[in-house]
Parts: sequence; C-alpha cells; structure tokens
Amino acid sequence: MNKPLILIVEDDAPIRNLISVTMDAHAYRHITAADASAGILQAATHNPDVLLLDLGLPDLDGVEVIRKIRSWSSMPIIVISARSDDADKIDALDAGADDYLTKPFSVEELLARLRVTLRRLNQFPQDGQESSVFTNGELKIDYLAGCAFLGGEELHLTPIEYRLLCLLSRNCGRVLTHKYITQQVWGTAWENNVASLRVFMATLRKKLEAGQKSSSCIQTHVGIGYRMVKLDP
Ligand code: CA
Repeated sequence: MNKPLILIVEDDAPIRNLISVTMDAHAYRHITAADASAGILQAATHNPDVLLLDLGLPDLDGVEVIRKIRSWSSMPIIVISARSDDADKIDALDAGADDYLTKPFSVEELLARLRVTLRRLNQFPQDGQESSVFTNGELKIDYLAGCAFLGGEELHLTPIEYRLLCLLSRNCGRVLTHKYITQQVWGTAWENNVASLRVFMATLRKKLEAGQKSSSCIQTHVGIGYRMVKLDP
C-alpha cells in the first residue's frame, strides 16, 4: 500500500506545522491548506485518504466545508476543534465528519485517530459491497439471519438493542451523535429519546460485557454520542 495522503486544513500555522512534522515522521504523505477555499480545492484535486479539518477557519465555517465535500466525496474527515465547542463537534459529526480531535491534542492522540480511520477504510471498502457477517473481537453479527453472538453464544437482544448494535457496527470506528442514532432507531423527535437511548445502551453494553474480561467495544463520548471501536483480533 502507498503511504496514505493526509490533507491538513488549519489556519493556525504552529498547529499546521506540528501536524506536518508529525506526518513526515510517521510515514504519511501530506498536503496543507490555510483556509477553507484552498482546502476544498486541495480535497477535490488530490482526493486525500484522510482530511484533518480545523473547524474555525477564516473564510468559511468548517461544518460548511464538510457539507460541501460530502456532496461529492465520502473521504474520511477528522475535525479539530477547541475543547469548549461540543456543539460544533456535534454539528460536524451530523454533517458527516467521522471523528474529532480536541485542542490541545497530543501527537499520540492524532496518530491513534488516524490509525482508527485508516483501519476502518481497509475494513469497509468504498465499493458499496457490504459483508453479511460482521465480527469484532468476540462479537459476531449475522445481518442476514438477524442475530448476534458473543463468544459463539447467541445474544438475546431486544429489537431496539439489535438495531442499535447493527447501526454501531455498520459505522464501526465512527462517532455517532445522539441525534443521528435516535433518528435512525426511532425516526423523529430525538430530543425525547436521548434518555431512552442511554437506557438501551446500558442494557446492550451489559449484555456485550457478560462473561468478558475486557470492557465492551462501545465507547461513550459524553455529551456527544457513541462509537464502536474495532478490537484487536
Ligand atoms: Ca482555526
């Protein structure tokens, strides 16, 4: 495989340079842009493997950049934003971002997010073909048969728990917001369903952790949503 190409869109020069240096040191190729319009042009011209996108750009809001790029590309997008901006992160995820990094972030954190995103790319080829069986650690889901197994034993899930599990697994590696999950599972009126979502997620987790030494593959992002992480085989 060629070295992955990372597009860095960030107006803050010291942060842009830090990321560039990190990419050089870790076998990634990179290109950079200091504002949204240059970033969109670079994305269209070079079709990078991953876009690292600052949300606070001088010419256009990062969330608008995501909407524009999503109109023609499914390239993975990791947004970078300040700690205080949970609402911005949620907007960015709902607009189609895959993940987020909070400033200030460590180089290790950045590299970990890139690995997760690239692994997801390799796992789910972009040709629209979906495998009928999903496995992650001890968990196995047979989408066609409509059942899930843990360590070879069938999991007894309620219909909503099963839908939640399928949704998370089909988006393994991505952070899904409360709004997105409740819309997918219940349809509308998501505000009223976030409390229900917490309850269903707690029972689903308990079932996924039963008899397991490690914790479940579902991460909580407080105030934002949930993500299924790919466990090492
Ligand atoms: Ca900025």
